[in-house]
Amino acid sequence: MQATEAINETAQATWNKRPLIISGPCSAETEEQVLETAQRLAATGRVDMLRAGIWKPRTKPGMFEGVGAKGLPWLQQAKKLTGLPTTVEVATAKQVQDALTFDVDVLWIGARTTVNPFSVQEVADALRGTNVPVLVKNPINPDLELWTGAVERIARAGVRQIGLIHRGFSSYGNTEYRNAPMWHLAIEMKLKHPGMPIINDPSHICGRRDILLEVAQKAIDLDYDGLMIESHIDPDHAWSDASQQVTPERLKEILDSIIWRKEDINSDEYHAALEKLRQQINHLDDELMQILGQRMKVAEQIGNYKRENNITILQTNRWNEIIERAFLKGDKLGLSKEFITRYFDAVHMESINHQKKIMDS
Ligand code: PEP
Ligand code: MN
Repeated sequence: MQATEAINETAQATWNKRPLIISGPCSAETEEQVLETAQRLAATGRVDMLRAGIWKPRTKPGMFEGVGAKGLPWLQQAKKLTGLPTTVEVATAKQVQDALTFDVDVLWIGARTTVNPFSVQEVADALRGTNVPVLVKNPINPDLELWTGAVERIARAGVRQIGLIHRGFSSYGNTEYRNAPMWHLAIEMKLKHPGMPIINDPSHICGRRDILLEVAQKAIDLDYDGLMIESHIDPDHAWSDASQQVTPERLKEILDSIIWRKEDINSDEYHAALEKLRQQINHLDDELMQILGQRMKVAEQIGNYKRENNITILQTNRWNEIIERAFLKGDKLGLSKEFITRYFDAVHMESINHQKKIMDS
């Protein structure tokens, strides 16, 4: 059915390169835009692979949905001019076939597709007998089973080279990010699939260009294998994801500003491994603090409510309910009753203090 030749040597070497840097526009728009982006990216000397969305899954109808298969020859031409292997998002069997017909080197599965087992299975079936590497983005919702399930479907179709892309998770309400990174989930996924490269996509996490560096640096500190960052020759006028794209030249500045952590500081593997785990602990602690901060904000809202309705702060029944729930959950997570009690006492005290401040105000 589709091309079954072995992956070419350049593409293979690129796939194996660390850090692997993938960049290009959110969407291919015109032939000129694709070619100029590719050439300016190649000129930075920092980019390994060219990305472009050909078929765009958009939230609402009537938005720009990608140029479709007519953009594939533009990518082929861009590869010819720059030597950069290419990658595109695929969501259907037809898209897989079209992409492979035009020598796309690596395929990726988008976040909106990873959530749908029917679509992932369709793509997996179309990949049978090919040996094109596939990158699987995390699903839009924070569900590791769904992410793992998609990886398994692709693996069962015989695809041997699979990578992960962490692009953050959608959540209701305004946050600093377009898609909350929830680093702990990506770390867990990485630990579950030690052989698979994990690439960070700060563009879709941030949704804005000013904090790309910060997020990319975090990923590199956490020993990610690479980055996928969207770039455009005229970011503000991009047909999709305008606010998060950067010019190829700005991308170079970002990449030059990142502190690249060496695998083996002091050529001492033990220390490097320890350092990596410590970094993970730091990030998990940061996340716990964030969540505790949020918890206190909710407690303050409760404080407001209690003040307006003249209710006491301490309600014993409610407290017993919280602690019983925590014992049950904690047991499954390997947390002792003693720890749960001490931890919740501390959280509870802090919460009461926050509520008290509100009630006294
Ligand atoms: C994209 O990479 O442009 C894209 C649509 O990403 P995601 O699937 O992460 O939303
Ligand atoms: Mn995009």
